Amino acid sequence: MKFLTIAIDGYSSCGKSTLAKEIANELNYVYVDSGAMYRAFTLHLMNRGILKDGAYITSQVIDELENTQIRFAFNTETQKSETYLNGVNVEKDIRSSLISKQVSPISAIKEVREKMVAIQQQMGIEGRVVMDGRDIGTVVFPKAEVKLFMTASNEIRAQRRLIELLEKGENVSLDDVKKSLAQRDHIDMTREIAPLRKAEDAIEIDNSELNRAEQLELALTIIQDKIQSLQSVK
Ligand code: C5P
Repeated sequence: MKFLTIAIDGYSSCGKSTLAKEIANELNYVYVDSGAMYRAFTLHLMNRGILKDGAYITSQVIDELENTQIRFAFNTETQKSETYLNGVNVEKDIRSSLISKQVSPISAIKEVREKMVAIQQQMGIEGRVVMDGRDIGTVVFPKAEVKLFMTASNEIRAQRRLIELLEKGENVSLDDVKKSLAQRDHIDMTREIAPLRKAEDAIEIDNSELNRAEQLELALTIIQDKIQSLQSVK
């Protein structure tokens, strides 16, 4: 059977990565978290003092791209793919709310996207990949056989994100989280290059009322249907 490319896009904190990981696990595909790459680059800029309290000079950000190597490695102990920035495991550091607050303006820069998209396309060149992000079905893999677009109510998204941050020991309120999600979505949807939007041929999944198992079942049914329709075309 032909290996598929599965693109999962959607707003922040809609459960994209949870679903993507579970699909990859079920199908024995590779999971790629494209947001982790933008987060890792943002962390790099902060470490280098190029990005301070949200302020930066675009030309310095662009110059820094050539000093940045981002890759993923599978950790057999945690059974998870982890993000490496210039050889250092940054998986935990990139998930902080400080990075979340600053990542979207950096991701909106054309040269940053060009570099990340090229790496992502290379990772998916042979198919058998599940990638989640904002522009996977529209720009990175416009020919992906399966495209899912995830949504959930603002309240539910904020609550899920709050729980994640509190578990990490961050001191944030539901209101902070709501504001930060709204701000990130706004920048992601209104940027000039590759804005977040649903691809015309994407299937929308609203998971506000679905638990993880139900969401996975729905996605696997969509994927199976696609596989069958591809086989019947042959
Ligand atoms: O998916 P995650 O929330 O980790 O992504 C962090 C940020 O990276 C997003 O808010 C967005 O600004 C950027 N991003 C993007 N394109 C992608 C994935 C993420 O611009 N494909």
